[in-house]
Amino acid sequence: MAARAERPGPQSIHAGGEWLDAASGATRDILDPADAKPFAVVAEGDERDADLAVAAARQAFDEGTWPRTPVAERAALLRRVAGLLVRDREELGLLESRDAGKTVEEGRVDIDCVADAFRYFADLVVAEGAGRVVDAGSDEIHSVVVHEPVGVCAMITPWNYPLLQASWKIAPALAAGNTFVIKPSEITPLTTVALIGLLVEAGLPAGVANIVTGPGHSVGARLAEHPGVDLVSFTGGLLSGTKVAQAAALTVKKAALELGGKNPNVVFADACATEEGFDTAVDQALNAAFIHSGQVCSAGGRLIVEESVRERFVAELARRAQRIRLGRGTEEGVECGPLVSEQQRARTEAYVASALAEGAVLRAGGKRPEPSAERPATGWFYEPTVLDECHRGMKAVREEVFGPVLTVETFRTEDEAVTLANDTEYGLAGAVWTADAGRARRVAGRLRHGTVWINDFHPYLPQAEWGGFGKSGVGRELGPAGLAEYRESKHVYQNLAPRPVRWFAG
Ligand code: NAD
Repeated sequence: MAARAERPGPQSIHAGGEWLDAASGATRDILDPADAKPFAVVAEGDERDADLAVAAARQAFDEGTWPRTPVAERAALLRRVAGLLVRDREELGLLESRDAGKTVEEGRVDIDCVADAFRYFADLVVAEGAGRVVDAGSDEIHSVVVHEPVGVCAMITPWNYPLLQASWKIAPALAAGNTFVIKPSEITPLTTVALIGLLVEAGLPAGVANIVTGPGHSVGARLAEHPGVDLVSFTGGLLSGTKVAQAAALTVKKAALELGGKNPNVVFADACATEEGFDTAVDQALNAAFIHSGQVCSAGGRLIVEESVRERFVAELARRAQRIRLGRGTEEGVECGPLVSEQQRARTEAYVASALAEGAVLRAGGKRPEPSAERPATGWFYEPTVLDECHRGMKAVREEVFGPVLTVETFRTEDEAVTLANDTEYGLAGAVWTADAGRARRVAGRLRHGTVWINDFHPYLPQAEWGGFGKSGVGRELGPAGLAEYRESKHVYQNLAPRPVRWFAG
């Protein structure tokens, strides 16, 4: 971090071990979502910068030492990176908070999770070893399946969890011996640039880790179609993900896609039978929908609650939503920051307007808050919003809002609850709240979502795969599958006693 801060100018592109300006000389101001004022500047790269970075990564893969570095040494480097993240936790957490608009506490937790990802993949790659011996059924055959890196990986990441999403790609890619070029979101690139600095500091050879800051339509699109790239790993929205998948298909490269979600939070009345149960379910429904102002791929923005407890549940939820302290994320004590951009707030407002026009009943929020000392008038704030009496025909129920908006639907039977929860083109995550253990298992088994929480919402484990069914994506991050994504399997079959096969008479 210190090394980067001393460097003059917006040299946020890193290719072949050099920090560079954009080939065009263009720059971009990075805006603080809490007041819309610029607070940093980065290089605005384009296709030429992407080409340069891919060439560097290609050379480092084809001719460099990293792919052949022993696994234990690669793991040691990953652990050093985790140590540097811990050292810079405060600075990076603050930067993430300022860049993405999240609270500084969330920013710190993100950095802890990033360090966890580096430690986890360091441990996993060592534990998995070099490969596995296959029993070929003969003493004369030695057969082994070995893991090899895929090659040059392109990584494209979103703005909501900038460094966390980057780490779920970078840590397994490096553990497996790949080289990479990453393109962070153009609006929140700062912590990813800082991480590249830490990888260099940890001793990664030049050309292994490369970054190009710039827009999706130029840098991102070029990386996805580039013939020198072997794998593209994308996290972002459905529309851009579809374009990336098309470009990858045309050049026959591996593609991993982590896309959006429309995540149901199903609450049965029996979960609210005690005061403690009711309080927990309401509290977690609030957290599911409004943490990071709902700008979370797994946000529980769709509450599906049993009819008999609906009124009490929604009244309490709305009361608590109105009390959420909105403000600049970097102020201690603030509970929710602004939306990341003017565009994201306008999008949220349009979804709320459409739901109200379609018959939803506003129970909380639905507007921009009054400005205050901790909420500048120019910031992109929006009040946590609860929309009651929704139905699955509504746009705000079907599409990913990606803002602080909770829609409420009701059910009467278990079957109806499951049908509603599965009625989405996405399938990233969902939760069921119930005091009945049998029902919990039954419903969890029937939900078509990549993560199902029972009596909880939002936690994930680095050891457990993360990803979606349906249009929430292709492939998995984290867990053993998250490492396998970055590997090729090679079968090496050795005949210890070669002799003619005599298939042809000769
Ligand atoms: P986005 O799709 O607008 O952008 C994501 C990234 O793709 C950015 O870096 C952007 O520059 C780039 N991009 C845009 N167009 C491109 C193109 N044509 N070719 C290549 N790259 C392109 O998404 P966003 O608004 O930054 O992030 C929000 C979305 O990300 C939401 O849909 C959210 O659900 C999703 N998300 C998913 C997960 C997950 O784990 N499944 C995690 C975080 C975010």
